[in-house]
Amino acid sequence: MATDALKNVRVRIEKAAQNLGSKIVPDWMLEELVEPEERFSISINVKVPNPANPLEKIPKKFKAVRVWHRKPDPADIWKGGLRFHPDVTLSNMESHAIEMSIKSWIMQLPHGGAKGGVAIDPYNWPKDTLEDVTLQFAKRAIKRGIMSPRIDVMAPDVGTTKVIMDWIRDYYIDYTGDNIIGEGVVTGKSIDKGGILGRESATGLGMHLALQTFCNAGEIKLPKKKTAIVQGFGNVGSNFCALADEYNISVIGVADQFGGVYCPKGLDINKMSEFTSAKTNKYKTINGFESVSPAYMKVSFDELMTIGADIFVPAAMEGVVTAGVASVMNFKVMAEGANGPTFAEADEILNQRGIEVVPDIYANAGGVIVSYFEWARNTRKFHDNPGIYIPENNETSVKTALQAIFKENGLALIKTAKKYNIPYREAGYALAIERVSPYIKARNRMD
Ligand code: GLU
Repeated sequence: MATDALKNVRVRIEKAAQNLGSKIVPDWMLEELVEPEERFSISINVKVPNPANPLEKIPKKFKAVRVWHRKPDPADIWKGGLRFHPDVTLSNMESHAIEMSIKSWIMQLPHGGAKGGVAIDPYNWPKDTLEDVTLQFAKRAIKRGIMSPRIDVMAPDVGTTKVIMDWIRDYYIDYTGDNIIGEGVVTGKSIDKGGILGRESATGLGMHLALQTFCNAGEIKLPKKKTAIVQGFGNVGSNFCALADEYNISVIGVADQFGGVYCPKGLDINKMSEFTSAKTNKYKTINGFESVSPAYMKVSFDELMTIGADIFVPAAMEGVVTAGVASVMNFKVMAEGANGPTFAEADEILNQRGIEVVPDIYANAGGVIVSYFEWARNTRKFHDNPGIYIPENNETSVKTALQAIFKENGLALIKTAKKYNIPYREAGYALAIERVSPYIKARNRMD
């Protein structure tokens, strides 16, 4: 049964196909685009501490899955995040894999979209168990031929970090003996493990570059000094907040699943990061941060939606912006940091209400773009894609290259929106599918 998220993505692909017409997207191609190409499900067996007696270990099974969408060219790789979250299921990962394809195609990256993960709550298990789970998963995936720098390259996502990527990288090289391009098996690694500078903050930075492109093009009109409310303070939310000052944005409210905090004069983001990364803060939550200053107020997510600001950044999980939220939210622009935060019904309401949406498939692509730089450097694929400049391994070069990609493809997205007179999200889907169509036809010998 299709999940709501999968239905959302399908509705969007169907709309794009209608806009583009059957010459560009014939029916057979539409059928391919709304379905993943492969689904893998693996059962991982590890020994975990017995809650009744932590000195004893007992066996436990975890479910791991991976979904591959469509690969434009046989020479491409599959690319997308590895998630550790209790809601990881095959059906939940399908929409994300499709969104990864769309995101990559908008940005002209040579990838088929993928997504997967392990159904585990990383906050509830000790590091040793997470390492065992990760390595068991890597072993099973390598044996099945679905994890390799030549085939499918995973990266951090919800609940995973560079530490987990480093474990996989070391294990893969040990297991296969590939010490030449083996470190390209995952991206988002530590720098001394073959990572690239700027990867960790890339999605947050990309959000600003996306907003900047739309503002400079005159598409969204915001004051010079802007305010923002952010939902989620994980990798994307926290890095967006940390860079906000540089882009003339004051973050006045942040909420996560446990609580929210608001201050019209702006929140101290450095202090917030210290608060969430404290050892005693098990869930890395901002809940309780209001106690740091008398000027701070404890608020709920719903309250923040009606308080409003210039910009809303959903940067947590999918399905947050329902029709109900869209009808009351008080923002000029929503820039999506999370993957799939908005329901299709909410899109219509936001359009009617004149709230501009800079969609996830463009706005949060910074991570996968810098991942591509990392992989291209690891695998020596520097010269294969003359259209994409692979930067040096330093933050300035990475930022410059990222900015150029956001600008070029953002302007193409805006042009598509104007050509078909459609909102940006629809335009993103149309641009992605228009770009990939010749490749999919060629792969199917239908050109
Ligand atoms: N997890 C990130 C995303 O959803 C990055 C994926 C990647 O770098 O492959 O876009």
